[in-house]
Amino acid sequence: MEPCYSCLNPSHEVSALTAEVNRMNFLRWEPLSHDLLDKDVDAYSRLLAARTGVSARMACNYVMAFHTLRQFPLVLGLQRQMWLLDLPRISLVFNHLCSVDERHYEVIDACLYHFLCPTKYDQELPSAREIIKHVNAILADLFGVDNLDGVVAREPKGVRLSDVSEGRSSLEITTDSVTGRAMWAALKSVAKRFSVSLEEAARKIFFDGRDIDVKVVVHAHRLEGTDDLYVPGAGFLSTEDRSRWVPIQRSMDGVEDKVSCAYHTPDDMKAFMDMRDGQCRGPSCSRRVEDTDRDHWHNFTGANTQVSNLVSLCRRCHNLKSAGTLSYALRADGAVSWTLPDGSTSTNLAVPRSRLFGQTFAQRIESRAENLRTFVQLLRSHALESHPPDE
Ligand SMILES: [Zn+2]
Repeated sequence: MEPCYSCLNPSHEVSALTAEVNRMNFLRWEPLSHDLLDKDVDAYSRLLAARTGVSARMACNYVMAFHTLRQFPLVLGLQRQMWLLDLPRISLVFNHLCSVDERHYEVIDACLYHFLCPTKYDQELPSAREIIKHVNAILADLFGVDNLDGVVAREPKGVRLSDVSEGRSSLEITTDSVTGRAMWAALKSVAKRFSVSLEEAARKIFFDGRDIDVKVVVHAHRLEGTDDLYVPGAGFLSTEDRSRWVPIQRSMDGVEDKVSCAYHTPDDMKAFMDMRDGQCRGPSCSRRVEDTDRDHWHNFTGANTQVSNLVSLCRRCHNLKSAGTLSYALRADGAVSWTLPDGSTSTNLAVPRSRLFGQTFAQRIESRAENLRTFVQLLRSHALESHPPDE
């Protein structure tokens, strides 16, 4: 039996289709990566996003990856022959290689080609992670270092410890926004109560946890005519969560019709726009609303700071608008109609921040707490191993 990958085995209908899908994706994205170097990243990514339906960030990753792949002739030949690499593999592996000095490409191309050629019948195709691991081993060899694992292809983890050199470590906790804010508030409160630094407060919470009682207050806005509570920068709170988070409520009544003479957006309008926009309203952009500015659609006149004239835009989208590369119109229903660099249009509908369905805060917090407990246990058992208690 001739060597082949099981996911591409032509005798199985689905596998044959997989190869075909990979081929179609190649035909769709590879030509778009030609003459890439002089193109404006933001403008081009947005144009591609509007035409393909993927996010601008994804479009940017794809064309950069294909641009790099074309510089690996052996792997490219294998791809054209077997259609083994799908979009995620191409995107991850070749965006990684994008940052490597081109003079190493020939060696990497040869090694990668051998790694990707199947040697057995119905063998498993290496995952993107495995391919990157192999690439890193080649690179480590080229760079004369032990290993490069962990340098790339990091997966977002709930809790992550990384070495920041000079004998220091960084502990990163990724969580949903409300929990994150509550944890931050708790940390600051403990720091204040014990007059210690934030680092010391975190240590106290970790190691003296049982003796610390913290109350966190979350400020929320109430939507006109509803019981929905919105926490700016975080999302909607369900009824059950109110008792847990003790929110201070502010009414949003009348904000929609309010007009301010100040250039800066008043807080209540800002909260309303956070709710209405949910994220950057630029074409195919999904940057967090916390990272946006409020752009005056019609230039500020001294009396037109009002939600019907303001749009949340991240700095990049804002710059594209200011430079005249893109332009928009804000419609009465909240939709933003963009005119793209080639004259075509793309309409961005308001995407209110999603209500946190499916999981209660209690469940969410419990699962985070469980992660944290496991992590602390690990820390402690590690500490015990390194410093065994005196007999
Ligand atoms: Zn944006």
